[in-house]
Amino acid sequence: MLKLFDTMSKKKRVFRPLGKTVKMYNCGLTVYNFAHIGNLRAYTFADLLRRYLQYRGYRVKQVMNFTDVGHMTEDEVISSDVGEDKMEVAAKRERKTVWDIAEFYIKAFLEDSRKMNFLEPHVRPRATQHIPEMIRIIKSLVKKGYAYVTPSGVYYDVSRFKRYGRLSGNTIEKLKAGAGGRVKFNPDKKNQFDFALWIVDPNHIMKWDSPWGTGYPGWHIECSAMSMKYLGKTIDIHTGAVDNIFPHHECEIAQSEAYTGKKFVRYWMHCRHLMVDGQKMAKSSGKFYTLRDLEEKGFSPLALRFFLLSAHYRSELNFTLGALKTAEKTVKNLFDFTFRAFSLDPKGRYSREFSSFLKRARAEFVRHMDDDLDTPKALASVFDVVNETNRLIELGKLSRRNLREVFRFMVDIDRVLGLGLARVAEGIPKSVKRLVEKREKLRKSGKFDEADRIRKDLAERGYEIEDTPDGPVVKRNWLK
Ligand SMILES: [Zn+2]
Repeated sequence: MLKLFDTMSKKKRVFRPLGKTVKMYNCGLTVYNFAHIGNLRAYTFADLLRRYLQYRGYRVKQVMNFTDVGHMTEDEVISSDVGEDKMEVAAKRERKTVWDIAEFYIKAFLEDSRKMNFLEPHVRPRATQHIPEMIRIIKSLVKKGYAYVTPSGVYYDVSRFKRYGRLSGNTIEKLKAGAGGRVKFNPDKKNQFDFALWIVDPNHIMKWDSPWGTGYPGWHIECSAMSMKYLGKTIDIHTGAVDNIFPHHECEIAQSEAYTGKKFVRYWMHCRHLMVDGQKMAKSSGKFYTLRDLEEKGFSPLALRFFLLSAHYRSELNFTLGALKTAEKTVKNLFDFTFRAFSLDPKGRYSREFSSFLKRARAEFVRHMDDDLDTPKALASVFDVVNETNRLIELGKLSRRNLREVFRFMVDIDRVLGLGLARVAEGIPKSVKRLVEKREKLRKSGKFDEADRIRKDLAERGYEIEDTPDGPVVKRNWLK
């Protein structure tokens, strides 16, 4: 029985989807910069969740948006409608148009997603392409008396929504007492905690016509509109990072439920922050990395993926380059191990006992993942298999058939981990084998320089040659 921690009820609940297909929405990136590794933690979590739901036999429809219309740089400001526009700041910084900024960083994020082995969401809607949908919802909220029109824009009246504050704990009483950060005084607001649905600003670079004046939508309304359009009024799972809980998700609930009169989300799931060297990630202190930064330092994106999976998504995780190095080594070992299971031909007899040990290990893996995606414990069951297999190979107590079962086990659990372990079945390409033979001939005829050039070439492509008394052995670096 799969249990997931629901931020709304603040406990683990048995997961039962509403229909045959699990409907999942992931709050996506604001595309004014490269995703940093903290963002990637949230998306690795979303990908893990999707993969595990599929592993458990559910069909999943996954929607992940791009926020490509600017929202504000002062994230801590409660209503996110004061401050500077992130997209415009980036456009000035890079001397591009806001549209080019969005295009550029969307492309970059798609590249990062591919490198991180994220499954492609079924829909990747962009906020700028859903302005009419947002206007329709705002119109209805005004008509129903949940929102009011002022010269500076349309605001949502939080006092009208009785359940406001239920997700985050920031009820209006608590906000009045100072919870949720400071609020810049806005004379047009009835209540300073009201948030903007539409901001009238004819000077904004990205702007659209609306019944209330030329301007642009508030941030929160984007996700409500896109979630409803692609997944319907009520969805199963909505994910984000913990800093999305308030105000973003609290506001999404208020708007969506006032609009439809129905429950918006059945399970709210939030991933904890990533710390860097024990501190909050910040560009100013240099405690800030993108995937590109790590690749430049020679790391594989899969090392980051594994590092992020190695901690439970709701627990604190501290990133250090040392820890990433360890993660990379572990991933390499998992590939080498899977390759050994695929290719070794041991002479031992088939062990039934070992076969049932594997079945128990798989059950353990599932039991831990069923417990709110407890990846550290699930991974421990995988390492039990690795250690026990290696021990028995040494003792000559496994057969080829046993190892085939190990190989299938690794490929099976990798549907969840998403490292791409099945690639080891590709083996060593013939072209590489031929080059190794050529190098050996060159060496034997004393042409060491030429031989060395081939060795270096292959090393760059991820093939290490080890010279043994029985001749050269090629080892593939599966992370290249
Ligand atoms: Zn969102």
